[in-house]
This record gives sequence, structure tokens and C-alpha cells, in this order.
Amino acid sequence: MKILVQFSGGKDSQACLIKAVKEYGKENVTAVFCDTGWEHADTYKHINAIVDALGVKLVTIKSKKYKDFVDMSIKKKRFPSLMARFCTSELKVIPMIDYILSQDESFIIIQGIRAKESSARAGYDVECSYFKDYFNNEVKGLYRKKDVIEWCKTHDASVLRPIFRWSAQDVIDYILENGQRPNPLYERGFSRVGCFPCVMCRKREVQLISKDEWARKRLIDAEQRMKDETEKGSSFFPPTYIPKRFCANGEYPTVQEVFKYVNRNDAQLDMFEPDGGYSCMSLYHGLCE
Ligand code: SF4
Repeated sequence: MKILVQFSGGKDSQACLIKAVKEYGKENVTAVFCDTGWEHADTYKHINAIVDALGVKLVTIKSKKYKDFVDMSIKKKRFPSLMARFCTSELKVIPMIDYILSQDESFIIIQGIRAKESSARAGYDVECSYFKDYFNNEVKGLYRKKDVIEWCKTHDASVLRPIFRWSAQDVIDYILENGQRPNPLYERGFSRVGCFPCVMCRKREVQLISKDEWARKRLIDAEQRMKDETEKGSSFFPPTYIPKRFCANGEYPTVQEVFKYVNRNDAQLDMFEPDGGYSCMSLYHGLCE
């Protein structure tokens, strides 16, 4: 039985990785990182530093269909959004299922999900089967259903969420107590460090990004590529992200318009959370921070 820890480079999965090494031994633990090609350079560095420090193997999983987040968005002719989070399934869920099915062994999959992250996450199980939905006839449209059912006849994939009841502070304390530091992006004010930025990025984080030359340029370039390579183009931020009067075309904002808006003194920054919270709510929880 192999222990896989889904490691995004965020604090919760880092705490799980430390805990797994202590409980199962480093030789039995593998960190699995789903690389969307849209992470911050510091996150890639952090992931490598942590697995080196713990002495565990790192498996990096990527989509076979898309080169990265921007390539996927251009091929789909739009960026993902809160209501259309195909990024999680295309860049994380599908590659992860392909990886599991390619292995001829059973797994315990450890996920850094915490109940306090959102009311929806509070309803998750502390332990369950990774493929439980494949045995529920009411869930339709599952990826590689036949292959999964076949694989499950001879293998097992159980999910454990060992920090389910922890607070964010418990997580940080645990990391520090174990002589490590969390991803440096937290110290720079970011509350999530997966895709950079995530399509559900808070405006306060966009404000920080607007002051980071590298991240700012990357976002502007992504939107420009979408404009150049597709007929209609698509904005990274949704039409309602900022008030319409701040959008030159009166419909949706460009990245530059959002940067301008979030730096206004009278900008309304994150007064309300979207329904379901900011956490990624894919069927296969824990892939996005
Ligand atoms: S972190 Fe955000 S942008 Fe990245 S895959 Fe998850 S929902 Fe999509």
C-alpha cells in the first residue's frame, strides 16, 4: 500500500506531508503535485525544497491534453470561472485519475482538506473511498468509469483527511514546530498559493499581484494571447468582477482595468464571498487549495 500525499505547495498539504512522513516513514510516502503550469515560481521552488527536506519522492502530474492553464483556456476559447471551473477537472482531476489507473498498486491518498475552509468542505468525510462516486449510479458523466470500476476490482484507493478539524493557525504552528516554513507567498499576503492567480482570486490578492511585475505581466500576456489567438477573446476576470462603469467596453473588464480598479481608494474589495466559498469544489477534493 503506497501513501500518496496530494501536495499543492500550500500550507495544508505541507502539514499533511510532514505528518505522513512521521506516521508512515519517508520511504513509504510519495508527494503528488498536479502542475497546471500556472503556479508561481516560488511555489515550484517551495515544493522542491520541502520534498528534499523530508526526503520523499515527488511525482509531478500534468495534463496530457493541454500544455498548461493558458493553453487549455485558449483551446476552450475562454478562461475558467467560478461557475465553470473546468481547470480543476482538466488540469488536476483527470491527470490524477490517469496516474492512479496507470499504477498496479493500492493507495492511501492523503488530502489537506479542513472543515473550517468553507461550509461545503465541512460536509466532507474524514475518510472515504477515492472513487466512491463511481459506485453511485446517480452521479453521471464520470471520467473513465469502466476503467475505474475494473481497476477497483483488484486495487483500493482510500482517502484520509488527517487535518480535517484543524484551524489554519494549527496548520501553521505544526509546520513551524517541525522546523519548516510555509510557502513564502503567504508571508507576502496571499491567502491561496495554488494557481497564480486562481480564477477565484480575491480582489485584495489582485491588488498585490498588480504590484508584482512578474505576476502582473503574466496575467496581461495571458489575456492578450487569448485575444490574439481566438476570435472573440475572453477576459480573465468575470464580467461582474468590478462595476461596469470601470470597463471601457461596458461589458467586462480587462486585466489592466481590474488592476486600476483594485488600487482605487474607493474600491469595494471582497465584501462578500461567492456561494460555496472560494475553495475549489471539485468532485475530487483537495486538488486545489
Ligand atoms: S486553483 Fe483555481 S485556477 Fe487553479 S485549477 Fe483550481 S480552481 Fe482552477
